[in-house]
Amino acid sequence: MKKLTRAKKRKIKRVLIIAGAASAVSLLVILIFILVIQRISSKPSEQAKEDELDYTLIKVGKPVISEKFLTKNVNSRPGTPLESVRGVVVHYTANPGTDAKANRNYFESRKDCPDEGQYKVSSHFIIGLDGSIIQCIPENEIAYASNKRNSDTISIECCHPDDSGKFTGKTYHSLVHLVSYLCAKYEIPIEQVIRHYDVTQKECPRYFVKHPESWRKFREDITIYLKKKASEK
Ligand SMILES: [Zn+2]
Repeated sequence: MKKLTRAKKRKIKRVLIIAGAASAVSLLVILIFILVIQRISSKPSEQAKEDELDYTLIKVGKPVISEKFLTKNVNSRPGTPLESVRGVVVHYTANPGTDAKANRNYFESRKDCPDEGQYKVSSHFIIGLDGSIIQCIPENEIAYASNKRNSDTISIECCHPDDSGKFTGKTYHSLVHLVSYLCAKYEIPIEQVIRHYDVTQKECPRYFVKHPESWRKFREDITIYLKKKASEK
């Protein structure tokens, strides 16, 4: 085998040094890349913490509510204490074009019916087509609206102009205000703002069941409302 000349040896040495340096740089780049990825992937949990609402900072003014409590009766206002409020349940009246007063009177008329399951129906609040709010049952008593969640939730019925079940802008606006007010008052997390559908799979409130993206948007609107109030202090 031919002996390597001095010049060739030097050349090989140079090549080895360059290769070594290149490997070191590559390793460094990989290390930096891993650190950056770790940093990015740890961000969502930090973000989630920031997103949690601090209810001690939130004050939501009470919406205008007209109290028209039902007469105590076995069917629509049993007078059973509601010991804790852990959620808010949204409903639609399923009676297109009727206003809040008519629906309140319907609940009241249940007092003349026999003491049977089919006649047991009511709700704490009803929001009319014009956004006005009627309260039928005090917040510390149960309503017959949300089946197994009657015992730990407050119910809100919403009027709607047509069969689609979509609320008017005014009804929607009052609903956002009322739900935000109740969330702040009882420190209810957004996951516990639910549809009647989430309890029983009943198609109620129809529009929010048929359009889950609108339901998500509604919950987002509540969160935005509460965050805005938190920043106002
Ligand atoms: Zn319902």
